[in-house]
Formats: sequence, structure tokens, C-alpha cells
Amino acid sequence: AAKAAGKAAYRTCTPELRESAVSRAELIADLRRAVDEGQLLMEFQPIVDLDTGVVRSAEALVRWRHPRLGVLTPARFLPLAEETGLIVAIDRWVIHEACRAAATWRANAPEVTVAVNIAAAHLCRPDLIATVTGAVAAAGLPPRALTLELTESALIEGSESVLDRLSQLRDLGIRIAIDDFGTGYSSLSYLHRIPATELKIDRSFVSRLDAGDTRAYATVEMVNRLAGAFDLAVVAEGVETVAQHAAVTAIGCRQGQGWRYGRPTALPDLLPALSGAGADR
Ligand code: C2E
Ligand code: MG
Ligand code: MG
Ligand code: MG
Repeated sequence: AAKAAGKAAYRTCTPELRESAVSRAELIADLRRAVDEGQLLMEFQPIVDLDTGVVRSAEALVRWRHPRLGVLTPARFLPLAEETGLIVAIDRWVIHEACRAAATWRANAPEVTVAVNIAAAHLCRPDLIATVTGAVAAAGLPPRALTLELTESALIEGSESVLDRLSQLRDLGIRIAIDDFGTGYSSLSYLHRIPATELKIDRSFVSRLDAGDTRAYATVEMVNRLAGAFDLAVVAEGVETVAQHAAVTAIGCRQGQGWRYGRPTALPDLLPALSGAGADR
């Protein structure tokens, strides 16, 4: 019976698979053109000081305005971009645009910084340093105004040369955040080796705080304390509700990001929130 069921499942799956394979190939071909044809766009999401509500930073999040499918989120195209290596060109574009944006914000809010996500594939490339230093220089930005966000899984794939590269970037003044902290495999050992400046506590923990989840609470508390011992800044990710805000504040997290403070938005929308930010630093 199991065999028959397996066969039936196979049969019903096949047409779908073929269809998705075609659209996948199409999507890859489209993605190859997307960077050159200016179809990528960027949104920025504020990262706020939890005590004052002041915007400290903004994270650059890429979107793709596909000519037929509309605006696609990263989940829809970044896996393809990573498989094909196109992610390197995309991240390069993002880094440049983000630095340019930060330079304009800093005219009004001199201490505001910008954060970009760096894919594993990019981390493995020696030219990452040239890309990053080139972008900050072109924008006239001090290196401390740029944070690179890396996930633990991206770091696992990395070798000594990745750690070396990160140290060089850190020595230049670039900030380094460990993104989605707590969801990877090697959080604790890597903390000792990565020259990080901050930890971003994953939304999966934060979102459980207002359900009175004592384990989630203990996890966020533990990460916050650990970060303190390592002299790392902490950002609570994905804060959506008043109760979550209250919880992360009570735990002692100093910075937050999430819909509670602002959704990712186009640059012009973010500008009013940024004017005057950082002035009281
Ligand atoms: P991430 O770096 O952890 O970014 C945070 C994600 O959480 C974003 O999703 C953001 O829109 C979403 N988010 C923020 N606050 C809330 C909230 O309160 N509630 C909920 N439900 N979601 C919230 P997004 O923009 O879809 O990006 C997903 C992931 O794609 C990012 O996760 C990052 O890993 C990756 N990504 C985005 N842009 C880039 C990029 O330019 N380059 C690379 N390599 N990866 C990127
Ligand atoms: Mg991120
Ligand atoms: Mg994250
Ligand atoms: Mg994430």
C-alpha cells in the first residue's frame, strides 16, 4: 500500500514539478537581467533606541519589481540568486545604494548608520573587502556608519579566510552584526571568534514573548546577558506588539526593530523619521 501511495504521489507531483522547473528557469533568466535593468529596489526599516524611540540605524532590504509578477520579496528570489551566484551582484548593488542613502540621511542625522545583509557566497569572496571599502568611499561615509549583517549559517560555511576577512573589515571600522542570532548551529563557539559588534535576536524568540512563554523570555534574557559580557550591542528583531516591546525593554535590550517601530519603506518615507535622529547621542 505504501508503494502504491508513493507511486500515486509521484504521479500527481510530476506535472507540478515540471511546471515549477520551467518558471524557475525563467525566473533565473529574468533575475540575470534584473540588476542591469534597474528592477531591484530597496526598502529600509528603522532600528530604534528602545529608551528614546530615536532611530539609530536602518536595515536595507532588497525587493525585485518583476516585470510580470509584481514586487517580489527576498524569500521568493534570494534562494535562486544564491544558487546561481547572482547574489554577489545583487549584494554589491545593495551595498552601494545603502551607503549612498546613509550619506543623505547623515546630512540631517549625523550619527545614523545603515545595515546590509551579506550572503554566504559573498562572504567567501576575497573582493568583499574592496566592494565594501569602495562603497563607503564613493558615498563619503565613515566605515563605522556601515554594518554588515551575517547569519550564523553563512559563517559556518566560511573558513579561516572568512574570519580573516571579517577581522580586516572590522579593523577598518566596519560594524559586524550576527543576524537571526540563536537560530544557527554554532552560536556560542563563533561568538569567541567572530569580530562582531552586535547581535540581532531572532524574531522567532521575540514573537513568543507576549504569549507569556517563559522559555522564550529566558532565551532572550540569556542572549542579552551574553551579549553584554562580550561587549556587543543587542537588537531585538521583529517586535510587533506593545507587550513584546515591554518585554524586550524589561529584559534590557537597548535597540529594537519591527513593525511596532516601522515597516520597511522606501527611502522618501523614512526621511522624516530620520531627521533629527541621533542628535542627542
Ligand atoms: P533579515 O535580515 O533577518 O531581515 C528581517 C526580515 O524580517 C525582513 O524580511 C523584514 O521585513 C522582516 N520583519 C521586520 N520586522 C518584522 C516584524 O515586526 N514582523 C514580521 N513578521 N517581520 C518583520 P524580508 O525583507 O522579507 O527579508 C527576509 C530576509 O532576506 C532577510 O532577513 C535577509 O536574510 C534576506 N535579505 C533581505 N535583503 C537582502 C539583501 O539585500 N541581501 C541579502 N544577501 N539578503 C537579504
Ligand atoms: Mg538582516
Ligand atoms: Mg534577522
Ligand atoms: Mg531573518
